[in-house]
Amino acid sequence: MVLQTVRFPMLSPSSSADAAVIVGGGFAGLFTALALQNQCPGCPIVLIEPRDRFLFQPLLYELLSDELQCWEVAPRYAELLSGTICWIQDRVTRIDRSTKTLTLASGEQLSWSQLVLATGSQSNDFGIPGVKEHSFGFRNLNDVSRLRQRMDALRQQRPSDAGLIIVGAGPTGVELACKLADLLEGAASLQLIERGEEILPGSSAFNRERAQAALEKRAVVVQCNTRVLNVTDTTATLSNNQKVIHGGLIWTAGSKPTIPTMTPEPSLINGRISVAEDLRMDCDASIFALGDVSTSEHASWPASAQVAMQQGEATGAAIAALRRNQSPTPFQFQDRGEMLSLGLGDATLTGMGITLAGPLAFQLRRATYLTRLPGRSLGLRSAGAWLLSR
Ligand SMILES: Cc1cc2nc3c(=O)[nH]c(=O)nc-3n(C[C@H](O)[C@H](O)[C@H](O)COP(=O)(O)OP(=O)(O)OC[C@H]3O[C@@H](n4cnc5c(N)ncnc54)[C@H](O)[C@@H]3O)c2cc1C
Repeated sequence: MVLQTVRFPMLSPSSSADAAVIVGGGFAGLFTALALQNQCPGCPIVLIEPRDRFLFQPLLYELLSDELQCWEVAPRYAELLSGTICWIQDRVTRIDRSTKTLTLASGEQLSWSQLVLATGSQSNDFGIPGVKEHSFGFRNLNDVSRLRQRMDALRQQRPSDAGLIIVGAGPTGVELACKLADLLEGAASLQLIERGEEILPGSSAFNRERAQAALEKRAVVVQCNTRVLNVTDTTATLSNNQKVIHGGLIWTAGSKPTIPTMTPEPSLINGRISVAEDLRMDCDASIFALGDVSTSEHASWPASAQVAMQQGEATGAAIAALRRNQSPTPFQFQDRGEMLSLGLGDATLTGMGITLAGPLAFQLRRATYLTRLPGRSLGLRSAGAWLLSR
């Protein structure tokens, strides 16, 4: 597999003007590139992504626990991309819709025929004092390394010392709490703080009940209807006037879209770029916006990998259609349900007519994700490695 290296003369504004340019190589961007390459052979495709590895975030818990390896959860772009896809390892700093050009951090400028904006989302601290400076995140490989180091330190401490606080009882907070409880084996207490009335507000009743039971079994203390007001390196002040001492606070309580500077500014709905049913920006037919970065007044799509992958595949097909002078069809999300990891060897899932929990659900979840890894040979290699390790 040969990666076509980028030569900047080849990608000057005039020569890139015929290309489909994709900004962001996460689920939405990478799946767009692969689908377009498949459906429109010969179409020049440029993928701009600063990281050197694609990150399969739903499997980040299994990376933390060493149940999966880095090459499986975060394969290198150099292994995933080939043929007509040019990968530029850089960041887009500015997009000018009026001249159809974008600027990279390196200062280079590119033009596009179609632009796909798939820059995802980032953690949102809602401006709460101390969160940015004193909390751990759980979104990328660096977060996993930092958390591993903290777990090692907690294993050395006396049992009575401070425990971990996880803020936000959405899927990430709940899944992480269960995994950490199993990994720490009582070396530190775990507290899960949620400002809403219950954990997993968007999940099915079955998954919520199973998750509740998994947290109870692991002695994770869940505190709902509670907001974090202030964080220092050793304490968290809560809305119920409690000041809790912690040995690490992990923030999973919110995210916000990552939108590069764009002129003219795009129209937004709740901070996300507003798109039509075919995922093109309401005000600009040459730009698609998909994944966590966009939403539509015509439909309510959750910010999830499942949506981003399907939108990527739909956008690849839409650009191929445009290049055949056909109109793109509206995007229709196929909800395949929800799978939650609930600690080592445990999971719960609902969807596609299945309701399942326990070790079998854990194995099904892992197998489902491994076969969804982009690049068929990588997915199969990964599934093979998993089977051999059992
Ligand atoms: C721990 C965790 C677990 C999750 N588990 C699940 C799950 O089980 N199921 C599920 O459906 N969803 C899950 N999600 C959510 C899912 O990962 C996201 O919804 C999904 O990644 C969104 O895809 P995306 O392509 O929009 O963004 P991303 O996958 O975040 O990709 C965005 C990409 O854009 C790049 N980028 C950003 N800015 C620029 C720029 N200026 N120039 C160039 N590139 C840029 C970034 O480097 C990144 O690679 C999970 C999320 C987390 C954090």
